[in-house]
Amino acid sequence: MKTTPARAYAAFDKTSPLRPFDLQRRAPGARDVAFDVHFCGVCHSDLHTARSEWPGTVYPCVPGHEIVGQVTAVGSAVTRFKAGDRVAVGCMVDSSCRTCASCKDGLEQYCDNHGTVYTYNSVDKHGAGPVTYGGYSSHMVVDEDFCLRLAEKLDPAAAAPLLCAGITTWSPLKHWGAGPGKRVGVVGLGGLGHMALKLAHALGAHTTLFTTSAGKAADAKRLGADEVVISKDADAMAKCARSLDLIVDTVSASHDLDPLTNALRRDGALVLVGVPEHGNPAPAVVNLIFGRRSIAGSLIGGIRETQEMLDFCAEKGVVADIERIRPDQIDEAYARMLKSDVRYRFVIDMAPLRG
Ligand code: NAP
Ligand code: ZN
Ligand code: ZN
Repeated sequence: MKTTPARAYAAFDKTSPLRPFDLQRRAPGARDVAFDVHFCGVCHSDLHTARSEWPGTVYPCVPGHEIVGQVTAVGSAVTRFKAGDRVAVGCMVDSSCRTCASCKDGLEQYCDNHGTVYTYNSVDKHGAGPVTYGGYSSHMVVDEDFCLRLAEKLDPAAAAPLLCAGITTWSPLKHWGAGPGKRVGVVGLGGLGHMALKLAHALGAHTTLFTTSAGKAADAKRLGADEVVISKDADAMAKCARSLDLIVDTVSASHDLDPLTNALRRDGALVLVGVPEHGNPAPAVVNLIFGRRSIAGSLIGGIRETQEMLDFCAEKGVVADIERIRPDQIDEAYARMLKSDVRYRFVIDMAPLRG
């Protein structure tokens, strides 16, 4: 098989710092887009995976699924991209199914046949490596159907986090009808949380941020929060009872859900998007029954809705608040993310890897 070398940063086990790794990318096939990676966001899922906080990490592991780059070559059947175009890739690079109801509905992440090929740590059906290698790398080759268009007017580094943090919060906001007249809560002001706030605000909803970090209150207001509640303050939480239609919970660590379900109005939904290593304590059933409230979950977003979100962000000028880092600062970024000290997404500038 013809391949081309790429430079990357990889985790080699669950405890050591990430370090340089040389890998092979497949030569572009007829439907493939080859591109240089310019920027890649750092998602907490990268950390969970690199450190085996979730089961199934195959090492070496090259994380990264908030990717913006520039096309270098395209296969003969590619119609939507040409060399020189800007391109964006998120959490999925393919589906081996494309025929089930979910794939046909443009919700490939819920493929009924488990066909979703994630950007990293999924079996690589092309065989360039044992598993797919993500965006912490110099260049990539991705099926055109999983490549997205990103408007030139958006800053490419600040737009990179839209590809996971953006779509993962956009999808539940849209599905549960966030908009004018709706009261939306967001839990946790990290990468996902700050995008949830910006997007809910841009959609016209009234927004409340729940945070453990009192020092983030002023930023939250600037990012679109109408109200800020310190979630460690039991009295303040109790005062929110029955006030919200929807809560998007982005917390990356195990936490009590009861003060949140209690903040829902009748028929409200608490939507979990955070995937903590150790799960959350079982919620009180009475909070659900008295109020017909629900707890739900939501996984990233489909390709179609990702493009809709990118177009909405271009129209409204919505991007992430970012701190740019070099590839050799990834571990420092992980350490700060674990201390909730991220304002509000680290984005790796890949120039040093491209040479
Ligand atoms: P992040 O930037 O680290 O933000 C997480 C935030 O959660 C922190 O900034 C902090 O906000 C809050 N938090 C942390 N520990 C907490 C605790 N013990 N109790 C209460 N709040 C706490 O992480 P992220 O990249 O946004 O990702 C968040 C989670 O979503 C991760 O578990 C990630 O794997 C998951 N995720 C899921 C999907 C999906 O498809 N469902 C997609 C992407 C990511 P405050 O300082 O404001 O309290
Ligand atoms: Zn992510
Ligand atoms: Zn499918």
